[in-house]
Amino acid sequence: MPASVRRVAVALLLAALLLVGAPACGQRADTGLPSQAVSNTDPGSIAYVTMEQFSQTVGSRPADSWGEIHAREFVFHALQQYGYEPTQQEFIAGEGAERVHSGNVVALKPGESGEILVVGAHVDSAPGSPGASDDASGIAALIEIAARLKDVATPYSIAFVAFGAEEVGLYGSLHYLEALSGTERKALMGMINLDGVAGGETLYVYGVEGDDSWLRDDILTVADELGVKLVTDVVLQVTPPVSHGVGYEIAGDHIPFAGYDIPAAGFITGDDHLLAARASFWPMNTPDDTMATMKKEHPGLAQRQLRDVIRVLEVVLTSKLAKKP
Ligand SMILES: [Zn+2]
Repeated sequence: MPASVRRVAVALLLAALLLVGAPACGQRADTGLPSQAVSNTDPGSIAYVTMEQFSQTVGSRPADSWGEIHAREFVFHALQQYGYEPTQQEFIAGEGAERVHSGNVVALKPGESGEILVVGAHVDSAPGSPGASDDASGIAALIEIAARLKDVATPYSIAFVAFGAEEVGLYGSLHYLEALSGTERKALMGMINLDGVAGGETLYVYGVEGDDSWLRDDILTVADELGVKLVTDVVLQVTPPVSHGVGYEIAGDHIPFAGYDIPAAGFITGDDHLLAARASFWPMNTPDDTMATMKKEHPGLAQRQLRDVIRVLEVVLTSKLAKKP
């Protein structure tokens, strides 16, 4: 074979090898990075394992405890592992005996615009509760979606925030907002709260009533397109005006955002009869909020819920939001 022909043959062989090695449609090129490995798994599977790890190895993690510090470290290192450069934002909040030293973990993913969507979950648990649903599930979903989107173009920038001291007064989300300048706060176009996103019987979505309901509505549209059953009801909605405090139907880190007129929405699971009876979001805030309870009461359900949440989030966060005014 003449040298030039041999070179062509070698080039063709290389091209063929590259083609064989090329990722299947829908998969991204294998970079060998941990975030890439997450992207090539079934949606929600990493979150499920992370929820188990977080609730069992970190365990109970009330605000201002070694458990909460451990929880922050867990999230910090997970985000770092997936290629982010997270920061720890420490704060002291509350008065007198209620005073707590806590902190948030923040990781920013730049997008095509400077407008920022905040995706939040909380690291702390209610005292005495292992907090598997509340809120290891939300932290786990946050970590998986952050990993999946690490190298994906998104129309908006995304701030992934693991809030501290939620259970004792939404201190982490309040601090996050208060630490921003007015201009920085104006860049926040919306907030999606992930609190108790697996474990209850039904997956719900809530949002702010009125002009700011577009974020919840977009989430519902995406869920509908994907065939994901997501339930909402006026009982679940945040009704403005809200003050920067607790005491609403669903108290959570979305409330301070709504208080600053930032469109807020969130996922939560709870009893089927929640809407009629306004029952509690069992088993939140109890010693029974464990992986063992979930597996016993509803085998396989938490996996499906995390899968649904991740699938919906992946589309919402990579799409231009349709109803954004
Ligand atoms: Zn919670």
